Amino acid sequence: MKISIIGTGYVGTVTGTCFAHRGNDVICVDVDPGRINKINQGIPPIYEEGLEELLKEHAGKNLEATADYDYAITNSDISFICVPTPTDASGKIDLRFIREASRSIGERLKNKSSYHVVVVKSTVVPETTEKVVTPILEQASGKKAGKDFGVGMNPEFLREGKAVYDFMNPDRIVVGADDPMAGEVIRNLYAGYTCPILTADTKTAEMIKYVSNAFLATKISFSNEVGNICKLLGIDTYKVMEGVGLDARISPHFLRSGLGFGGSCFPKDVKALVGKASEVDYEPILLKTVLEVNERQPLIALRLLKKHVPDLNGKKIAVLGLAFKNDTDDIRESRAIPLIGMLLAEGAVVTAYDPMASEHMKNVYPNISYFSNAGDALDGADACLIATEWGEFGKLNGEFGRMKSKIVIDGRRVVNPDIKGITYEGICW
Ligand code: NAD
Repeated sequence: MKISIIGTGYVGTVTGTCFAHRGNDVICVDVDPGRINKINQGIPPIYEEGLEELLKEHAGKNLEATADYDYAITNSDISFICVPTPTDASGKIDLRFIREASRSIGERLKNKSSYHVVVVKSTVVPETTEKVVTPILEQASGKKAGKDFGVGMNPEFLREGKAVYDFMNPDRIVVGADDPMAGEVIRNLYAGYTCPILTADTKTAEMIKYVSNAFLATKISFSNEVGNICKLLGIDTYKVMEGVGLDARISPHFLRSGLGFGGSCFPKDVKALVGKASEVDYEPILLKTVLEVNERQPLIALRLLKKHVPDLNGKKIAVLGLAFKNDTDDIRESRAIPLIGMLLAEGAVVTAYDPMASEHMKNVYPNISYFSNAGDALDGADACLIATEWGEFGKLNGEFGRMKSKIVIDGRRVVNPDIKGITYEGICW
């Protein structure tokens, strides 16, 4: 099939590259010329395990990138909108990129005679495809959805860091469509996948994505709340959750307590669902609390640090881990951001190390010291905070010997607490 991908971030680049690998012809569209150049050279604009190899294999063959919507829409039969859907100042979803992309596609559909399907892959609140995207496409093209062109919604569930694997091996595929022909075109694209393919209308597909993320975020905040209580009672919350997770109704996943969730999805998607609920006059108290618990976890880490170093003014504190989770360079909503902010507000001198994300964090905190390995960041430190669950932090040992005072506040349960000479404190254990 001939596919155009609108927006080449984490979702767009992975989707485009994987569709190309499955034998389709793919044209990626972006407004950022830097990203376009990179993709055309076979260099991924973002880090994802396995992506570089695949992109190199297909760039210049059955995958290309361009800023030219005319070219992309004319030469494809189906377009996937993968642009950002951030949160606006009031906490609701900001649809300006979605509107812009829909308008750009619609204007090109005006002169296209063959049938084209537009699929929203970005995470959008229920009714967006039906009440925002479709009307813009119809207005810009002068054509009728469901008759002259099709519209669908196909939420993306990939995990950053494992995005290529997840795209190729999904638990399920959700195909949302308000007309049967569009639904069939999208389902055909996924022919060959062995997972369940669920068909629904577009607003149900949109809701499935939000509810999945809200439920996972709830599991994390629930585990953090339990962890905070367990710590005060001297109970190992990881043992508790091991016992709890063995219940098949619960499952062992997403029960690890720690510094909280970050990333481009959970915080913004839970906020957007809260915002959508308020539009229909419902106060989602559980979801609001999920966000509150998450905001509190970095404060708890700071409180534990101050138990050992009461006055942080002028003290050197090493933050290990800047990415919102391991195996990614993404720092969006990383828990390290509020943590470093609080340390700086207390007058601490912050040193930092992350295997991949330092360059991005320099845009947020240009004035802290970044190091290329954990040992150098720890050198002379009065304490350190582990903010990301990188596997290599689990292998640290002698590096702690370079600290002035070997206090380790572990926000992710990765450091071995029995390392000789360290004072170890887990955030929830
Ligand atoms: P991103 O910020 O990494 O990338 C978005 C890209 O869209 C950027 O390259 C940007 O330049 C481009 N863009 C913006 N406006 C455009 C326009 N009008 N035309 C063409 N390109 C345009 O975003 P992302 O993380 O890939 O997320 C995209 C969507 O997918 C969001 O709705 C997000 O919630 C959802 N999602 C993300 C993930 C994830 O793990 N990152 C997972 C599932 C779903």
